[in-house]
Amino acid sequence: MHTTETPASGSIYDVARHQLRARDGSYHVLVDAAGRRMRANTDDWCTWSTGNLGNRVLLHLAFVAEACWSRQEWLAQPALLAAGADVAAHWCGRYGIPARQATVAKLPGITTHDATRAWGGTDHTDPGEGFPWTEFLAEVRARLG
Ligand SMILES: [Zn+2]
Repeated sequence: MHTTETPASGSIYDVARHQLRARDGSYHVLVDAAGRRMRANTDDWCTWSTGNLGNRVLLHLAFVAEACWSRQEWLAQPALLAAGADVAAHWCGRYGIPARQATVAKLPGITTHDATRAWGGTDHTDPGEGFPWTEFLAEVRARLG
């Protein structure tokens, strides 16, 4: 999981346009505060999301959000979290990934750009310490039934 370092007023379209133009990063799916989802790359595509190992072996979901957000700022964006939970639940169901938070040493599970720093090649800390894991995982699990 990632944040695009874009304010909540930003959109998946803004981020996708920037990434197509700048070619400085990519993800598999983008979600935004309006609850929109965008398939940016197929799941079998090696995106440019984190360091090399993480790019090769992980699926990358990016929230149009900022890693500096507090827990309250995240919880004030229910459509954003719901869209992300839809995507995570889809991947968990399709690929048999447990719906739990995981460090890269404890995969499979749902992990973060921050956690992939353990593999090197990146220094990003998204989605940030304020990310509401409890609520997010509850939404993912609810979708999995
Ligand atoms: Zn990231």
